[in-house]
Amino acid sequence: MPRIYIVDVTNRDGVQTAKLGLSKLEKTIINIYLNEMGIFQSEFGFPTTKHEQNYLQANLELAEMGVIKPMRLGGWLRAIIGDVELAFERVPQIKHLNLSISTSDQMIEGKFKGKKTHQDIINEMTAAVDAAYAHGAESVGVNAEDASRTRTNYLIRFGQAAKEHGASRLRYCDTLGYDNPFTIYKMAKELAEGVGLPIEIHCHGDLGMAVANSIAGAKGAIDGGQDAYINTTINGIGERAGNADLVATILAITKSKDFAAKYQLGNHIDLTRSWKIAKFTSYAFGVPLAINQPGVGANAFAHESGIHADGVIKDPYNYELYGYQELGRGEPEFVETGREICTGEYSGISGFSHVMGKMSVSFKDREQAQKILELVRYANVLSHKPLVEDQIIFIARYPAIAKKLLTLTPLE
Ligand SMILES: [Zn+2]
Repeated sequence: MPRIYIVDVTNRDGVQTAKLGLSKLEKTIINIYLNEMGIFQSEFGFPTTKHEQNYLQANLELAEMGVIKPMRLGGWLRAIIGDVELAFERVPQIKHLNLSISTSDQMIEGKFKGKKTHQDIINEMTAAVDAAYAHGAESVGVNAEDASRTRTNYLIRFGQAAKEHGASRLRYCDTLGYDNPFTIYKMAKELAEGVGLPIEIHCHGDLGMAVANSIAGAKGAIDGGQDAYINTTINGIGERAGNADLVATILAITKSKDFAAKYQLGNHIDLTRSWKIAKFTSYAFGVPLAINQPGVGANAFAHESGIHADGVIKDPYNYELYGYQELGRGEPEFVETGREICTGEYSGISGFSHVMGKMSVSFKDREQAQKILELVRYANVLSHKPLVEDQIIFIARYPAIAKKLLTLTPLE
């Protein structure tokens, strides 16, 4: 029976979101957390973008060192030969790629303005796939942008061409959040049957259906005989109304009525990491968790009305589908209410040593402490807010990698 795998795109679609961004250290911590959670792949960034180069290389080094393992790190780029060449020039060690090109009549006419035919799109895509493998890629996913507004027979032809050139997966992008669970199910099933490749489902929430569409699409792919890969983002942060929320999607797969009886995750996902990853990502983006967010919102396990409170006290399953412990909630959080010593871009060694002492991190000498402090200062310059404990510990543990993450050299 084919299975469902999660490809999280927070570090690509999430950071592409208007008005929001992440520092390279924040993106790295997210990759580490996603790996700990058991996510199949993180779409970790843009290998053609100059300022991503050091970050992408550093994360591939972390993978090499076993710090980010077994999760795959995949880059996103346009399905154009020139972009593939540039990606391997900047990040030669990259092994997993998703190549994207628009396939709908709307985009071909409205964006390319008659400069490209439907066949040109297929030719560019297959040439890009060939180039990626020629440069040493191990897996190449092909993304049909605006797939939900693309004619089915053309999409099948596009997918078949991708398959002939060795593509690993076909990504069905509901770029505008236009699908509903019924339409995406049908499309995903037809593509799985007609193309014969695993189908990746990429949904947006413009009509409030990103999670529902994702699991309906996955069901379609599996009913069509292929594995399904669902694209998620942490807290649903993504372009416009956002993407399918990571935690909500996993909950929908594993807890919704009858679904898991037939449609299952391909590998174990540790849901107890949900609380930590949602909180950190909320802090890093500077976007509070919605009070009613599934699983991790402040009200997800709060009961007030008499009937509900009485019912949940008698037996939680009267009014809760899953327990808060399953999501890693329940531990009290320590909040300093008195004097607080923070780390920042102008911190000194004494305050820093105090903070590190609290985290029980020790240094072999003052020189080493000074070096780590310098890196922590740079990290603060880039994130504009105090670092969390895991970030500071990461810098102390991997100073050479941290230095790479913090090195941004424009126009060189
Ligand atoms: Zn998207």
